[in-house]
Amino acid sequence: MNIPKKEHAVISHSLIQNSGDAMYLSNLDGKLIEVNKQACINLGYTREELLKLSISDIDTEHKSDEQVQEYFTILERDKYNKLSTYHQRKDGSTFPVEVSVSLLNENGNKFVLGISRDITDHIEAKNNLFSYIDTLEKIHEITIVAEDIEKMIFDVLTIVQEVFKTDRAFFLSSLTVKEKFQLPPIVITKDEAPCISISNTNKLTKSYQQELFEKRNYVKNEVHVSVHSNVAKTPSYIQELHIKSEMLIPITNSDNTNYLLGIHQCSKAREWTPLEKKLFIEISRRIGDTINRLQFYYTLKESEKKYKTLFDNAPLSYHSLNTEGNIIDVNETWLHFLGYQREEVIGKNYGDFLHTKWQHVFDTNFPKFKARGYVNDVHFKIRHKKGHYKYISLQGCTGCYPDGSFKQTYCVFQDISARKKAEDQLKQSEEKYRLLMEQSPFIVEVYDLDGLQISVNKAYEELWQIPKEVTLFKYNILESKEVLKTGMLYFIKRAYAGETLDLPDHLYKPENEIKGSYKSRSRWLRTKVYPIKDEFETVTHIVLVHRDITDQKEAQAALIKSESQFKTFIQQAPIPLSHVDNTTGLIKYINNQFLDVFGYSHADIPTMEKWWKLAFPDPKYRKFVIKHWNDAVALSKKKNADIVPEVYDMTCKDGSVKQILVSGITLGDDFLSMLVDITAQKKIENELIAAKEKAEESEKLKTAFLANMSHEIRTPMNGILGFAELLKTPSLSGEKRKKFIRIITDSGERMLATINAIIEISKIETKQVVPNISKVNINELLQSQLNFFLPEAHKKEIKLSLTNSSLTEVFSLFTDYAMLNSILTNLINNAIKYTNSGTITFGYLKKENSLEFFVKDTGIGIPKKVQKTIFERFTRVDHESTKAIEGSGLGLSITKAYVELLKGTIWVKSEEGVGSQFNFSLPIKS
Ligand code: ADP
Repeated sequence: MNIPKKEHAVISHSLIQNSGDAMYLSNLDGKLIEVNKQACINLGYTREELLKLSISDIDTEHKSDEQVQEYFTILERDKYNKLSTYHQRKDGSTFPVEVSVSLLNENGNKFVLGISRDITDHIEAKNNLFSYIDTLEKIHEITIVAEDIEKMIFDVLTIVQEVFKTDRAFFLSSLTVKEKFQLPPIVITKDEAPCISISNTNKLTKSYQQELFEKRNYVKNEVHVSVHSNVAKTPSYIQELHIKSEMLIPITNSDNTNYLLGIHQCSKAREWTPLEKKLFIEISRRIGDTINRLQFYYTLKESEKKYKTLFDNAPLSYHSLNTEGNIIDVNETWLHFLGYQREEVIGKNYGDFLHTKWQHVFDTNFPKFKARGYVNDVHFKIRHKKGHYKYISLQGCTGCYPDGSFKQTYCVFQDISARKKAEDQLKQSEEKYRLLMEQSPFIVEVYDLDGLQISVNKAYEELWQIPKEVTLFKYNILESKEVLKTGMLYFIKRAYAGETLDLPDHLYKPENEIKGSYKSRSRWLRTKVYPIKDEFETVTHIVLVHRDITDQKEAQAALIKSESQFKTFIQQAPIPLSHVDNTTGLIKYINNQFLDVFGYSHADIPTMEKWWKLAFPDPKYRKFVIKHWNDAVALSKKKNADIVPEVYDMTCKDGSVKQILVSGITLGDDFLSMLVDITAQKKIENELIAAKEKAEESEKLKTAFLANMSHEIRTPMNGILGFAELLKTPSLSGEKRKKFIRIITDSGERMLATINAIIEISKIETKQVVPNISKVNINELLQSQLNFFLPEAHKKEIKLSLTNSSLTEVFSLFTDYAMLNSILTNLINNAIKYTNSGTITFGYLKKENSLEFFVKDTGIGIPKKVQKTIFERFTRVDHESTKAIEGSGLGLSITKAYVELLKGTIWVKSEEGVGSQFNFSLPIKS
């Protein structure tokens, strides 16, 4: 744009006149030649007044023309300059200005143009900024060294009050703040401000605090300004605290504790500049940071205190050594444990406290410890002040200087004296167990989790006849073909899973497993396998314990063989044998001979119980036999001897009873019994016994006979000989002679009777007497007997009668008449002989198949004990009353023999002093 020269001058003039900056045009002498409006305003002169002045009149920095000239000289060289100076108004006051000065050259005429700006505000702002920085610096100084929160806040509030020229500066904690960080309200009040105390207990403060923290929604780290211009509308506590204006900022520290920094203006309401607000924020930040720092510091201090207490009272003893191994610190526990005072320990070499044996351990290992940086579970024997030693286990690490060089050790240790003692004991007992295992007759093997054999005992070496090195750490049970083949692997795996097991007996052939030149034999093993577990019940090893049962197995095989031989023997044995399991009572086996003798099959008698019942059907006898037998078996077992042989009557299957000699042997729990049939033998034996008894009897009889004969023959013989001699007497009267002859005859008859009886007896015994059977009329016979005996009975004044219901009948019996007659004669004769008074009745009763004869008397009777023997030969009742009565004692025995020859029986019933009744019965059909 081309502006015409004239217009250009007008525009320039207008621009200059209306510029906000003051402009001064002067010549090189300093004389003002033109000024604009702003220059007039700034200096309070009119244009005209100013154009009469020089630069030196208005510029306080260049008060003389010389000074102005000097400045212009510099300007001539630089053409442009900028300076700060003060201008003096017409009223004499000055104000700061910043002047841009330039040299103008108009067609050789030189002028100086000054454009000045009033920088009063600028300077003030600058000053304010300085005070801002200054304030922050002061606060920084306070906070950086602060150790006490309250004091720090107090100091800061003092500065705040000063800087903000406020009536009240304060710091409040939220009412809900943790007790630990609860601070009392801290307030700085200007002397002339209304003295309103702000305290924890003050109600007013409380409501204000409540209002501030609970009702107003503050934004963290943001300034909140309130101006309470309308006093009537403000709450009472605002009024009572005389708050006109307030500036507040919440401070929230790291643990979310809330505080509030505030200032009150009480005299008049006011606003705060942004710079002031900024400063306020900065101050609050510093306070917040410092509180955080101090709170952290307090906590740290507290925990340090705690740590120190802990350190001193820890159950672990602690010490720290320097690079020389000298003690630089110990805790209370250390001192207490070893009985020293701190001053006795600090500075001393650690080695000095150790047992001499351990001193060199320390000396050699301490440099290693320093180099390595840590130690763990190092054992020392350390001396107590009293002289005894303690076992300790030490753990520690080293600390370094920042340059990495060794500074000190930090070590703790535990008293392991008790543990050491227990360990020693354990070692001893372990040693015992090791010995036990080593010496055990059982074969012991230990395997690790991988199946590797890690330990075996002596018995193992003996079993396989190899040194243990052959398999130890080489043989793997989980990979063994033999273990797999024998089926043991299954059990081994179960043991690894935690079970304890008894393995089935197995034959182990190690030839495939044992390498090298060793030849090992196969063995039968009985094995137990069990796991070893750690404290967490985790299996760490398994143990196999074997018993070599090869011999046992071989013995068993031999036994089986001998057993079969035994069976053959039993089978073939010529006598009945039975094999019984005594515990179960099962009859294991019976041989053929047994079957032959008893007729029972094995099916009939599977058990002893069955046998007892069949062989001994009579319960009483059975009971007796069982007891007897069991006693015999028990005795045999106890004495380890054969079962004592005994004879029992055993019933065979066909019902016959056989006499069996039972003997036997016990075979462990079994017994083998031999049953010999001795029935025939027994019969012969019995016969022999009978014969023997008979012979003995005959011997007795012979003696009795001789005794009797001496009496029975000698008496009548004496009579005969005596009276025969007397007959020789010449003067013998006829009467006497007759009497003597009769005596001789009687004696002769008596002797004859005796001799007849003897002959009869011997005839009977030699079986020469044979009944001569004929039809006999019984009633006739009895009648004749009555007739025969009546005179004799009469003589003794005894009533003799025949009572017979069948008397009327004509009754015949086929029998030997003479014998029957003799029987009756004998009995009736005896009755009369042994009866002194009373009655004798005789007769018969007809029974079904027999005739029962009886002879009853009221005589002297027969004592009970001799009633049985009375029928034996030569037996006479030894009785006073019978002594006088003659008799050979043969009558009843002949009678009995006759009765028996006639197939009858004879018996007697008698009571001493009451009487006797002899009965005999004869069969009707003979
Ligand atoms: P004896 O020739 O002695 O009579 P016996 O054999 O006839 O021999 O009798 C044996 C014994 O039995 C007699 O000695 C007598 O003691 C006793 N005796 C027999 N009959 C009777 C009886 N009726 N009353 C009492 N005792 C009798």
